[in-house]
Amino acid sequence: MSAAKPAVTPMMAQYLEIKADHPDALLFYRMGDFYEMFFDDAVAAAEALDIALTKRGKHEGSEIPMCGVPHHAAEGYFLTLIRKGFRVAVCEQMESPAEAKKRGYKAVVKREVVRLVTPGTLTEDSLLDARRHNFLAAYVQVRDEAALAWVDISTGSLHVMPITPVRLGAELARLAPSEMLIAEGSESDLAETVSDMGVPLTPVSRGSLDSTSAEKRVSGLFKTNSLAAFGAFERAEIGALGAIVDYLELTQKGKIPILRPPQREAVGGTMQIDAATRRNLELTHALSGGKAGSLLSTIDRTVTAGGARLLERRVSSPSMSLDTVLGRLDAVTYFYENRSAATELRESLKRVPDLDRALSRLSLDRGGPRDLAAVRNGLSQAEQITETAQFDALPALLRDALKNLEGHADLNDLLDQALVSEPPLLARDGGFIAPGFDEDLDESRRLRDEGRGVIAAMQAQYSEQTGIQALKIKHNNVLGYFIETTAKHAETMMSAPLSETFIHRQTTANQVRFTTVELSEMETKILNAGNRSLEIEKGFFETLRQAVLKNAGPIAATARALAEFDLSTALADLAIGENWTRAEVNNSRDFHIQGGRHPVVEAALRQQGGQPFVANDCDLSGGTESSIWLLTGPNMAGKSTFLRQNALIALLAQMGSYVPATQARIGLVSQLFSRVGASDDLARGRSTFMVEMVETAAILNQADDRALVILDEIGRGTATYDGLSIAWATLEHLHEVNQSRALFATHYHEMTALSEKLDHVDNATVAVKEWDGEVIFLHEVRKGAADRSYGVQVAQLAGLPPAVVNRAREVLDQLEKNEREGPAQKALIDDLPLFAASPAPQPVAPSGPSEVEELLDTILPDELSPREALQILYELKDKR
Ligand code: ADP
Repeated sequence: MSAAKPAVTPMMAQYLEIKADHPDALLFYRMGDFYEMFFDDAVAAAEALDIALTKRGKHEGSEIPMCGVPHHAAEGYFLTLIRKGFRVAVCEQMESPAEAKKRGYKAVVKREVVRLVTPGTLTEDSLLDARRHNFLAAYVQVRDEAALAWVDISTGSLHVMPITPVRLGAELARLAPSEMLIAEGSESDLAETVSDMGVPLTPVSRGSLDSTSAEKRVSGLFKTNSLAAFGAFERAEIGALGAIVDYLELTQKGKIPILRPPQREAVGGTMQIDAATRRNLELTHALSGGKAGSLLSTIDRTVTAGGARLLERRVSSPSMSLDTVLGRLDAVTYFYENRSAATELRESLKRVPDLDRALSRLSLDRGGPRDLAAVRNGLSQAEQITETAQFDALPALLRDALKNLEGHADLNDLLDQALVSEPPLLARDGGFIAPGFDEDLDESRRLRDEGRGVIAAMQAQYSEQTGIQALKIKHNNVLGYFIETTAKHAETMMSAPLSETFIHRQTTANQVRFTTVELSEMETKILNAGNRSLEIEKGFFETLRQAVLKNAGPIAATARALAEFDLSTALADLAIGENWTRAEVNNSRDFHIQGGRHPVVEAALRQQGGQPFVANDCDLSGGTESSIWLLTGPNMAGKSTFLRQNALIALLAQMGSYVPATQARIGLVSQLFSRVGASDDLARGRSTFMVEMVETAAILNQADDRALVILDEIGRGTATYDGLSIAWATLEHLHEVNQSRALFATHYHEMTALSEKLDHVDNATVAVKEWDGEVIFLHEVRKGAADRSYGVQVAQLAGLPPAVVNRAREVLDQLEKNEREGPAQKALIDDLPLFAASPAPQPVAPSGPSEVEELLDTILPDELSPREALQILYELKDKR
């Protein structure tokens, strides 16, 4: 501290010095069993955590605000703070107060920040969703190159890809990172892209992104001379990788987690799916926000955390490589056909713990005996699978995976012998090394336990010596071992001759407590033996940890292999249970689905126990056929469901899953787009027409002839004629310019005329039956245009008052009559451009007023008594 400031206590001086290095984080300053926060940190934390704000001493004349949390409960507080956008610097005591005293009477315990807790760098099981990835990303732009790198430090996977800035939003939507590093000063450039995704940004110094030093840093980490060993990386990619490594060093204070060499993701290697489409198709989250009801949660039958994360990755990034897709499908087919092998394997897999995360915690020195046990259990399950499973003619993907399950015999034996079957959570509690593993340890444990036996014997001896039956030897943390009798014996015990042996320690309300020289000596022996056992165990913990880390690469490979087996069997199980089929995926532009279903809606219907899901065909293969279907039909008929199910079928096929259909032939889809007219998009709270148009523009600007486009009621967010015109022009553009495969649902019946004009557009409709004036939804998609929209009937189903429904019928009849007698529809098509030829909007007033209306006109509601009002209602009803 500078001399100019008023004197502060040595501890406060230390606090301020450490805090100065971490201005952006809340400093959790360890004091005994608590983490304390001071000054502004305390004020912010007390509010965010809803804990009491107190005061401690004074600094520069004013009181120091303070709050604290018990260290054993700190994890939960970290999570709350991170969710609220804070970062936490964890400052620990690096020596015991006794050690500090040795350095001088007033010496302050040494403290250091050992870790920065940020959203992207969590590893604690309790803070992470085991079935989801937690990515830290870095985005770097160097002149006209840009790159995105991302890491999951809890599993060690590290990826990088070149990227064009316009694609950033879509990639962020795919990865959903919890934190992204960017160059200082570029926050505002990226604000718009990332605010949509809710990704917290962490600015880092430009030096940390510089590709030259980054290359050194990253290749140093992987102990190679250059990164060329892992692929040809562009400068921006190296910068992004370097930023990640630098940030991990900074936040983990030098303890770098085990990372796998960077994997380069090819541009165009995955199906492109932008944020709106992901949301709209509810891939990993339902529109309501939760996970339930999403595609992911509906199809997830994995039994391991690693398998669940792999499934999440596949759902988020369906492949564009035919070989990859077919390879994955072969793996599923294998288990689809070898059901008993699959069932047996899944039983073994259920016992596989989260190897990846155990490994990562061990590498960060944040692990405990249970993580060692997780490695042991995982590896022994893997070994058991290789020994017992009867696999014939495995497809390539599984053959490779199987190889990776082996090769851990030595480590396995070591862990097996060393560890007890269910070790405690913390190494410092001891008790995790198995008896018989080490003689020294067994010996000190024996001394410790014998001592305990000796003490039990002492109790009998003292009881006899004093003649007091109720005499007990007990133990607590304050007194250690002590002899206890009831208060009525106090006098006997405290007078000669017993007082020569028994030394009084404490009197409580009902008891008196003593010790003896013999007992204290025994206690010291027990303590020493206990401490020695703990020391030995701690030593073994480190030895075992190092043994595991030395094999980190192969263990991670085993973990990946187990995940692959889990996912393949889970998808086979799903396919069998749900009656799905293997799609024929190829390089054509086909899109031919027979008997397609929507997996999530089907599951929901089944749960409700009502009518079963109605399967539907779809063919957008083009050629002489159509590649765009224009779908009309009343609300609630099932249009949205049909649209989405076809998008999901394409996605499922390319992620390597069977599909909910009786037959499917799909030419690789490069881009998937799904949009819903604005008023449906309530979940985002931004039901504006502008959003709808921005999103439609994105499709028309990007979709190519391998894209699959799903447009649901585009244009409905504005006035009828505006909306119709926009929908019309959009469809024409998709057909003429983008030439994508598309499904287009609309309630503008006028558009059905387009199928005559555009070669590749077909009309389809979701059938309904009208019965006794009511509409029955058949949910069947058929070729042809809907004859009418049945809006009035749907309104009736929804419970609109009968008077309104009847009136609506009258208005509709009139409007339809006008239309029939008005300019022919045909003219509309022949005379494109549309706007010149469109008929003037008809006022929504039919012919003269009806009797009912005339009566209504005479009513002045404010002047009516209740009785008169009732009377008028009767009259109105009569005139009906
Ligand atoms: P639209 O988009 O035409 O308004 P939706 O697709 O939202 O209609 O479907 C409305 C409801 O109809 C769904 O929630 C679902 O319960 C049911 N439904 C849709 N498609 C089917 C189907 N193929 N089989 C059975 N029920 C269906």
